[in-house]
Amino acid sequence: MDKLFLNIFLLSSIIFTGSSDILQAESYTLHESTESKEVNIYSARKAYLLKPILKAFEKDTGIKVNIISGKSKELQKRIEREGTNTRADVLLTVDAGNLYIAKSKDLLKKIYSKKINTLIPEYLRDQDGYWYGLSVRSRVIMYNPKKVNLSDLSTYEDMANKKWKGRICVRSSGNIYNQSLLASLIYHLGEKKAKTWAKNIVHNFSRKPKGNDRTQMISVILGECDITLANTYYLGKWMSSEKDKDRKYAKQIAVYFPNQSDRGAHINISGAAVVKYSKNSDNAIKLITYLAGDKAQELYAEANHEYPIRENINVSNIVKSWGYPFKQDKLSAAQLGKNNRKAVEIFDKVNWQ
Ligand code: FE
Repeated sequence: MDKLFLNIFLLSSIIFTGSSDILQAESYTLHESTESKEVNIYSARKAYLLKPILKAFEKDTGIKVNIISGKSKELQKRIEREGTNTRADVLLTVDAGNLYIAKSKDLLKKIYSKKINTLIPEYLRDQDGYWYGLSVRSRVIMYNPKKVNLSDLSTYEDMANKKWKGRICVRSSGNIYNQSLLASLIYHLGEKKAKTWAKNIVHNFSRKPKGNDRTQMISVILGECDITLANTYYLGKWMSSEKDKDRKYAKQIAVYFPNQSDRGAHINISGAAVVKYSKNSDNAIKLITYLAGDKAQELYAEANHEYPIRENINVSNIVKSWGYPFKQDKLSAAQLGKNNRKAVEIFDKVNWQ
């Protein structure tokens, strides 16, 4: 190799791979003058859930927050399309699988903040610093108390037992929630056993997969099936609803946390990441730090009946009513993204639909 070329090559390797591209939260003040006093969020989370917390953030920091809401996939596509021109500073979305995909598409910026790393337990964030969990949700068994004996419930694995034949309804495998649950089973049981599990669950279906989590819960209530898999906050929404119909529904279905005597119930996260071409990344880091703090955690988890990222934070009475604390599967959230492709393959092979 030509000597001059080699030098340029080495220099550019240092520039592109060196730690200089890692943003340090501790260096706010150095950059502050070049940034505006605002931060732009692309959010797959509903704006009403965020409003009270973001208002508090604006008041405490003087940084104005702008939100663009949309579906997770659409927002990712938009960030991809906008490239260096994007206005997005923070991507807020649900499911570690989605955050993992955004990272692998090179849409996110690596950050390093000692404070954030202290606030957010390691298993709830990306080890390389690309995304951070801000709330915890659990995907549990929900059952019809009139038709199911509590003693018949135990683990996700047990749902594959013949005793549940024609008694399980689920949503489609195209949904990332079920993909992440299967990804966790691939990790814990191995690919072969996870595939057998999925195959046997399909044998136990009471009907073809259709609808969202609430559709499954209504099917349980209407007697179309006896058990289902759903995220707990959907029941929380019914319990706190102003509609009589929702509150009536809520009384006819119950939560069961599986695998309490071994690894714990499957959990996932909602989380945030700084967008690769963010123009206000110091403000973005401030926002993520704020959302991980005690004050925001209480509000953030309560707004959607989710769980806080640390157990010392209060949960709502509704959330408490299902049993808290419960044993959570503390598998690294990144593993759910890593095993996502395998999970999708298994679902296709066993014709989950
Ligand atoms: Fe959801």
